[in-house]
Amino acid sequence: MSDTFTLNPGESVIKRNPEVGLGKGPFNRQNNELILTNQSLILQKKNFFGGNEEVVRYPLSDIVISNGQAQVRVGRLDNVTQTLDVYLTGGMVSFVFTWEQDIKEWANEINTLVTGGPAIYEKTDLMSEMAGMMEMAEKLTGTVKDVRKAFGIQSTETASARCPGCGASITGVEGQTIKCPYCGTYYTF
Ligand SMILES: [Zn+2]
Repeated sequence: MSDTFTLNPGESVIKRNPEVGLGKGPFNRQNNELILTNQSLILQKKNFFGGNEEVVRYPLSDIVISNGQAQVRVGRLDNVTQTLDVYLTGGMVSFVFTWEQDIKEWANEINTLVTGGPAIYEKTDLMSEMAGMMEMAEKLTGTVKDVRKAFGIQSTETASARCPGCGASITGVEGQTIKCPYCGTYYTF
């Protein structure tokens, strides 16, 4: 059976990628075309010889929305292969892409169509990015205190100092500002 995709009235193409694999099977050929329109994700399945074989439509209205975000994610097939995971009311579908950057662009584009804004990636991504940035900043400048403060991260390292006002021994937590109990001078550790 051969079948070539056609657009509905009022449907327009937004993105196309001609090198997409489907699903997580071992016989996954990455020669299908994925088309994003203002109505659907359309998978134009190709046969072994590159001819059009079958059309599968995933209406954008079937994409699950949670916390104001379309449930489209960067997934993982293995260490080197990443997927665009789309959560539909009927289940999840995974498309294998060659480039991770493309997956993010598709996820953003889909989210914009479904919710009106770009996708916000998993918090874990952001957190590990932040941790990486902090580590780098610490290495470069050694100003651990400032970097932590910039990210609003509370240190738990205790610090002690002499009060600049009266010379009394005072203790606190790194980054904390205290008022000297003896003379009222403010001091930041
Ligand atoms: Zn003092």
